[in-house]
Amino acid sequence: MTSLYETRVMQKHAVVIGAGMSGLSAARVLERFFEKITVLDRDDLPAGPAARAGVPQARHVHALVTRGAQELDGLFPGFLAELVEKGGHGLDVPHDGAILRPSGWQQPMRSGCTVYFATRDLTESIVRRRLREGGRVEILPRTEAAGLYVHPDAPGRVAGVHAVQRGGGANLTLAADLVIDASGRSSKAPSWLASLGAEVPREEVVDCHSGYSSRWYEAPEALPPDVWWKMVWLDPSPAEDHFIGGVLFPVEERRWIITLIGYAKHYPPSDEEGFFRTLGALRSPILQRMAELGRPISPIYSSRANQNRLRRFDKLANPLPGFVALSDSVCTFNPMYGQGMTVAALSARVLESTLERVSLGDPGFERVFFGNLHRAIKDAWNLATSADMRFPGAKSDLPRPSKFASFFGDSILRTMTHDAEVLRRVSPVYYMLKPTRSLFEPELAARVLLGGAAGLAAARFHPRPVPPNPPPRPES
Ligand SMILES: Cc1cc2nc3c(=O)[nH]c(=O)nc-3n(C[C@H](O)[C@H](O)[C@H](O)COP(=O)(O)OP(=O)(O)OC[C@H]3O[C@@H](n4cnc5c(N)ncnc54)[C@H](O)[C@@H]3O)c2cc1C
Repeated sequence: MTSLYETRVMQKHAVVIGAGMSGLSAARVLERFFEKITVLDRDDLPAGPAARAGVPQARHVHALVTRGAQELDGLFPGFLAELVEKGGHGLDVPHDGAILRPSGWQQPMRSGCTVYFATRDLTESIVRRRLREGGRVEILPRTEAAGLYVHPDAPGRVAGVHAVQRGGGANLTLAADLVIDASGRSSKAPSWLASLGAEVPREEVVDCHSGYSSRWYEAPEALPPDVWWKMVWLDPSPAEDHFIGGVLFPVEERRWIITLIGYAKHYPPSDEEGFFRTLGALRSPILQRMAELGRPISPIYSSRANQNRLRRFDKLANPLPGFVALSDSVCTFNPMYGQGMTVAALSARVLESTLERVSLGDPGFERVFFGNLHRAIKDAWNLATSADMRFPGAKSDLPRPSKFASFFGDSILRTMTHDAEVLRRVSPVYYMLKPTRSLFEPELAARVLLGGAAGLAAARFHPRPVPPNPPPRPES
């Protein structure tokens, strides 16, 4: 029997709007199906890891969770080895990090999952170079998509993209058999669709009014002996009136990014004095101590692009043929859950599996794609939104989680701090290797609920303050 790969029919031309994580990943899978692939981006695209205006989020921490790391390594074989070789850190977070959960410190234990810490610029530059080296994809920098092109003889179908070359270049129309919008959070797809009289997806928003302030530091060559942790994660604790948490992620070139994360409109300060003072006012002083050990090498960057927003393309009765959207242009998450780059890679895989099963010209291709995409991202969406809805004052288009669901979520966080079995089974869900339904396997759910109830009772009847410093270094 011949495989789908061998029998596929090559389509002519695909145009991808946006050379971010999803656009580059999508272009890689399109190589299997299209004779020509063009990726356009409004930015100048540097050869190496360098900041660019189109991805302002790159100035903030970017963790690549296990599933995303595996998917990117599958799409670009050798990606992970190169990331580590260039200074990225692969860590088992609850073992290698100092983690303060709402109920207390994580006992250092292995989860069996590796999460990668590097600058977003490095991660993206490796993917971009590997795609370029493949030689099948044309990347057009400084080229901004301005709308969808519809051929006058075929008004019901997208036939390409109108684009403008920045810096006084020409206006272009790129004809295409499929246009993929991967232009991220700032995607103009809804207005482009509306201007053609096409159906526009409705949006669901969950916003806990969260914001980031980040500063980069040069780490010292040696750390004091008691500082065993390679990263830091301090959760907020609204019950104790702590609405700001913070993290320290190590990145390449012996640097750290320290980020304050505020919730419920407690936006962290973006001035130097306020940033440093707030580090000292968190539930543990260790982030302020780390900031004192390091040397600041950047200004303080702020972002409030933290809302969860899902465009329901999957609900369109008649999606416009010839056009699909993926990743952030469909669904953005509160970034503190670290899902975005993984969803970018998963979106590309969904495009690949849809192209394997449905011919592009078939009526319904776009509907099948959007349905598949929704199924692939809905766990990540549910995890992020159900957690964010619980912050006071959160705006939500979705029903709030039940008291039981909230108790279950709290019990997971509580038990995973000291129960190795719960940690080992829950971590693959957080890092997107397993579906959320596996949290409800009876034996695990019973262990979580019992542990949660016992922990809650202990906290109520024998309250003990959270120690300011993490537990000692793990044995191995
Ligand atoms: C503060 C913050 C922190 C984050 N932290 C994490 C994290 O820890 N882990 C994680 O996995 N994810 C994180 N994310 C999410 C992650 O950055 C995105 O989910 C991921 O980059 C999605 O990729 P994308 O390709 O859809 O969009 P992007 O990476 O944003 O790329 C969009 C691209 O489209 C281009 N573009 C836009 N409009 C046009 C146009 N009209 N024409 C041509 N080009 C255009 C832009 O220049 C850009 O290159 C974070 C996000 C934010 C905001």
